[in-house]
Amino acid sequence: MSGQIQLLPESIANQIAAGEVVQRPASVVKELLENSVDAGATQIRLYIKNGGINYIQVDDDGKGMNALDSRMCWERHATSKIRSADDLYKLNTLGFRGEALASIASVAQVEMKTKTRDEPYGTRLVIDGGRVLEQENTATTDGTSITVKNLFFNIPARKNFLKSITVETKHIMDEFNRVALAYPGIGFELFNQGKSVVKLNSGTLRHRISELFRIKEDDLLDAGEETEIVGISGFIGKPKLSKRTRGNQYLFANGRFIRDAYLNHAISSAFAGLMEEGYHPFYVVFLQVDPAKIDVNIHPTKSEVKFEDSRHVYSMLHAVIRKSLGQFFSLPSAQQLQNNIQRSESRGQFQSTAPNPRFNPFEPSKQKQKTEWEKLDELLKPAEPEVERQADFFQDLVREDALDIRGIFQLLGKYIVVQLDEEMWLVHQNRAHEQILFERYSKKKGAAHTQQLLFPRTLELSASDFQMYQDIEEEIRNLGFDVSVFGKQTVIINGLPGDLAKSDGADVLEQIFQDFKTDFQALKISKKEALIKATAKNTAIKAGKVLSETEMRKIVQDLSHCDQYNVNPKGAPIVIKLDEDSLERFFQSQGKK
Ligand code: ADP
Ligand code: MG
Repeated sequence: MSGQIQLLPESIANQIAAGEVVQRPASVVKELLENSVDAGATQIRLYIKNGGINYIQVDDDGKGMNALDSRMCWERHATSKIRSADDLYKLNTLGFRGEALASIASVAQVEMKTKTRDEPYGTRLVIDGGRVLEQENTATTDGTSITVKNLFFNIPARKNFLKSITVETKHIMDEFNRVALAYPGIGFELFNQGKSVVKLNSGTLRHRISELFRIKEDDLLDAGEETEIVGISGFIGKPKLSKRTRGNQYLFANGRFIRDAYLNHAISSAFAGLMEEGYHPFYVVFLQVDPAKIDVNIHPTKSEVKFEDSRHVYSMLHAVIRKSLGQFFSLPSAQQLQNNIQRSESRGQFQSTAPNPRFNPFEPSKQKQKTEWEKLDELLKPAEPEVERQADFFQDLVREDALDIRGIFQLLGKYIVVQLDEEMWLVHQNRAHEQILFERYSKKKGAAHTQQLLFPRTLELSASDFQMYQDIEEEIRNLGFDVSVFGKQTVIINGLPGDLAKSDGADVLEQIFQDFKTDFQALKISKKEALIKATAKNTAIKAGKVLSETEMRKIVQDLSHCDQYNVNPKGAPIVIKLDEDSLERFFQSQGKK
């Protein structure tokens, strides 16, 4: 008698399992990196090409495998990590079902070299779509190297579902970041298209975070607490590191990256009142719970977990973050925060350099008790270059008397009419300010004065713009932008040039990029000049802006100090001067008609 039911061939069973485990190149990266971590590696290298679609390689210096294990590990349910069903509930390693390698091998072309410390030779293995093609002894270093080529070569339907190289690369970077954050004691290096793009030395977590995201160690606040149920450790970013997009939030449970909206809320809500609406805090937080009290098995890729006591974890987490923020300053009430925002908005464009008759640069400022506000300000912004600012300030003071202004007013919202001793000037406000800025930026040596933003902005750039940004980053800083790279292709703007009109920093910077690109290509001028031109153009006050008398005076005074103050670089007039001669000529020529 024969029935209709048959067991699936092993290779098909593996492909089905691969549907769960291997969704995209980043899943392969995750599994390989985690295996290397489990193998006790101290140094891990990841090589990718074309978003990992064609090529992924992970090399480690871990414990390696002998000839038998190197063959066994490709079988489904082959694992050295669990021996009994009980082990499932107290898992301390990352792997746990022995499915990853079998799944990967069933949907790609794989090569492995591996060697243990005890054996003189290693093993080399070639597997294609799940079939072992070659196995031989080989001379190789201690540890394991696995290469995965042409993912989904035998399942075109799955291959078609892969996204662009950029998107797949981003997913890989995410996985890389997660593993790198969870194991700061391990050195990592990432090579993309043969070029080393990230190199992380082993060290403290604080150092790892700062290297990985290129942020200052000082901008990270310690967050830690032990209770019977949960151990919490890690760092939160000062509020100024928060972003509009929910990118840099890393939560780990027992060394595994997890997604948990409930616990994310515990952290984000602790920042209430310190961040602008719609912003998300930066954090890297680790939870340690008894492995028996957490179920990691509810999701195939293991990024969702279930805590036995999630409410306790929530309130502990919230309290720890609150405490960590609170150690730096008293948390302000919503009303105080509102006042501070208004105060910063009312800081006029020219206020930072407005003359102060009592200013004496040689008199040390009186030390006074810091108010909560000042402490909050400190937390929200990096230190200002005090010396630089005083120097600017002093210079402005000395020059203030240059023009003898008798009267001044704005005409049509676009022109400034100035009455001097013996003449009258008609000034084009936009061109004047552009010229002032252009000359100031051109002459600046070292960094210009920066006005810190209360709420930093982030700017996401395209890959090519980001490349360009990196080319001119130093010069952008010298212009007075306080910018830093924040993750991949994102720039965070903490401060703007001091005399930049109060505006959205991200918009301005983006506009500057666009103009810089066009000018640099079209005008064949130096990068620096193109950047200065673009900055002056985009940061100058516009026609139509109503100006206070102080502002008008400042523009006219500054203009009178410009090397070229009556026409701009394109030859367009900035100032029309009416003196006795020109008036007389005008009336005479009109009278003769
Ligand atoms: P799991 O990690 O769940 O055990 P995998 O399929 O990922 O399953 O790996 C199977 C086994 O292969 C592991 O249990 C481990 O013994 C071995 N292995 C995999 N990668 C490495 C490596 N880089 N170094 C040493 N052993 C490894
Ligand atoms: Mg594994």
